[in-house]
Amino acid sequence: MAKCDAADSLILKIAVPVPLDRLFDYRPSELGNSAEFQRGARVLVPFGKRQCVGVVMGSANGSTLASRSIKPVIELLDDTPLLSALDLQLLEWAARYYHHPIGEVVATAFPTALRQGLPATLQCERYFAPTAAGRAPDVDLGRATRQKDLLRRMLSREPAWSAAELAGHKPALRALIDKGLVEPRMPDPSDGPVVLGAALAANPDQQAAIDAVGADLGRFAVHLLEGVTGSGKTEVYMQIIARTLALGRQVLVLLPEINLTPQLEQRFRQRFGVGIETFHSNLTDRQRQQAWLSMRAGVARILLGTRSALFTPLREPGLIVLDEEHDGSFKQQDGFRFSARDVAIARAKLLNIPVVMGSATPSLESLANVAQGRYRLSHLPHRAGNAKPPAFQVLDIRGKKLQAGLSEPLVTAIGAELAEGRQVLLFLNRRGYAPVQICHDCGWVSRCHRCDANLVIHAGIHKLRCHHCGYEQALPRQCPACGVGELQALGLGTERIEETLNELFAGHRIVRLDRDTTQRKGALEGYLQQIHRGDADIVLGTQMLAKGHHFPNVTLVAILDIDSGLFSIDFRGGEKLAQLIVQVAGRAGRAELPGRVILQTRHPRHALLHSLLSHGYRAFAETALSERRAAGLPPFGYQALLRAQAGNAGAPQQFLGAAIQCLTDFTQSGVQVLGPVSAPMVRRAGLYRYQILLQSDKRPALQRLLDFWVPRLADLREARSVRWSLDVDPLDLY
Ligand code: ADP
Ligand code: ZN
Ligand code: ZN
Repeated sequence: MAKCDAADSLILKIAVPVPLDRLFDYRPSELGNSAEFQRGARVLVPFGKRQCVGVVMGSANGSTLASRSIKPVIELLDDTPLLSALDLQLLEWAARYYHHPIGEVVATAFPTALRQGLPATLQCERYFAPTAAGRAPDVDLGRATRQKDLLRRMLSREPAWSAAELAGHKPALRALIDKGLVEPRMPDPSDGPVVLGAALAANPDQQAAIDAVGADLGRFAVHLLEGVTGSGKTEVYMQIIARTLALGRQVLVLLPEINLTPQLEQRFRQRFGVGIETFHSNLTDRQRQQAWLSMRAGVARILLGTRSALFTPLREPGLIVLDEEHDGSFKQQDGFRFSARDVAIARAKLLNIPVVMGSATPSLESLANVAQGRYRLSHLPHRAGNAKPPAFQVLDIRGKKLQAGLSEPLVTAIGAELAEGRQVLLFLNRRGYAPVQICHDCGWVSRCHRCDANLVIHAGIHKLRCHHCGYEQALPRQCPACGVGELQALGLGTERIEETLNELFAGHRIVRLDRDTTQRKGALEGYLQQIHRGDADIVLGTQMLAKGHHFPNVTLVAILDIDSGLFSIDFRGGEKLAQLIVQVAGRAGRAELPGRVILQTRHPRHALLHSLLSHGYRAFAETALSERRAAGLPPFGYQALLRAQAGNAGAPQQFLGAAIQCLTDFTQSGVQVLGPVSAPMVRRAGLYRYQILLQSDKRPALQRLLDFWVPRLADLREARSVRWSLDVDPLDLY
């Protein structure tokens, strides 16, 4: 009898966030009407001994399982589905493309609070607008100037103001609410967009880009906006966004870095009088939930966010903007390893809307797509306004005396710039004091006992720290091996250079920007403001400096050490270095003052430097692309990396060996299988790491192999003693 039930009763197919690549069968809850369980709604379900929040992905009549083993849903969490059919379609596509378990992929689309099953209610206290009394011409606020100012500002435009916009005015806002002059109220999208700040008069290149994308509003197209730093890409985005808003559509803007959102948010708020939300990891769960729901409901019209914002549902999608598209942080490096750039394009295609991707240094992938006619290119070759491009100088430091990595000519150049009262920016991609501590007597080296890596000296906090696993210990005073030898710091980090700069340029204000100095919330913003106010003479930093910040008063940029990048084992090393040089250089001379860039190297004739500096990024990219084509590497080849790790070296090798065995049955290959080999860093955080690289010149061939392979990997007995993961289109082969 029970079995009969299962054969013809309604069964729900639920995505549950567990690492198993399948949907799970559940019965609708006893009391609920099964028609209420719509695709895209969240449900609470029993899973083993736990309860999980899952998402209804579909239903079927009957199940292959016996009725009594199919448990009922505990609770339906949403009356209306939170994700649309197209949202779900995108997630299903991404799960297939990346061969990642569907339940985990679906969970990625939700902010934490919703993933945990909290109710999807949009708080109207997120938005405020003047009441009828507040709009009356004779409001008397006496001497409460802050309240007067705030009310005047809020009257200056129609749509309601978001809590984020009013964040700095809490007491005045509260007072106005108490007086009945302002009330919580949802913005009404039918009020239409209000463009507050006037757009700049676009130059002809900008206008061409705006018109090109403008012509594609309402249909799928990918536009690559290649514009040197300071060429006015953001202005182009804003003018296209204005057109999109005027059509009653919403805009998703993706950025590589949280740190860039406040800057852009401010520019956007000055320009657009619509609900603008941000979505990134520096917000609270509740803030992210509300931003997500505001976009879904359509009360907010623009979302600025990082990679994790990509799947936010949009009520009236119109445009996706992806800034700094070359940036590696668009690729998630753990769990569900998706590329926000590639999935953004897939999403735009499903939604039938355009994508605009911008960069001064487009990825080779995107340039190849332009060459093949898949993306349309708009070019902004000149800096907007009066700013001039920086001049490069290769400084040969072979045989030169260095003081903490600074050559004499560089020290002189810095001194000259400071004497003129200008700002200098120094780049070194290594934080800490020195990358290793060594005993001068016995040769002891500070190694991490959990990784194949050295412990880095952090002098400020008196610690040795591993940059790979986070292990740290007190800085030894005596050699741990011989007990008597003299301990020395070998090599350079930003902390050590800061120390030397303080000696060489005493009396000047030096700001160090790296992960160590900017960990505290708000620290980076504080430093950036300090630099903008002109309260800093020398800015010293890592990677962070390459990421889109504006330093208008900087006239000299120096890259202290490019040699390690020139000889990277990563086939993307050259591309990354070229992008880094151009991006860091782009920080110089953005305003009225011309900029200069000094590159210290022991390889002044290196081909990469020559083509990049004499002929520009485009010439570099063309050479690099032809090398990749000859080698069959991305973007002309397609890769996937199977990684495995365990506490002993045997298990991952056995697993990968068995994985290769699985492929003996697979005949229609056309895919190169390279490995198993050890990862370049074999041991990390106490785990031994091995990998297999797959490569093919045909994407479908690679996908066919993965379709065959991945389900079998999960079933391997050897899989139980390792942690393994698949990375489709890996950016890092480590
Ligand atoms: P990018 O995003 O390419 O780095 P921005 O859009 O930030 O460039 O523009 C760089 C600077 O040039 C900004 O100060 C901006 O206000 C200015 N700018 C941009 N477009 C124009 C224009 N058409 N006329 C005058 N100034 C402009
Ligand atoms: Zn020693
Ligand atoms: Zn370590």
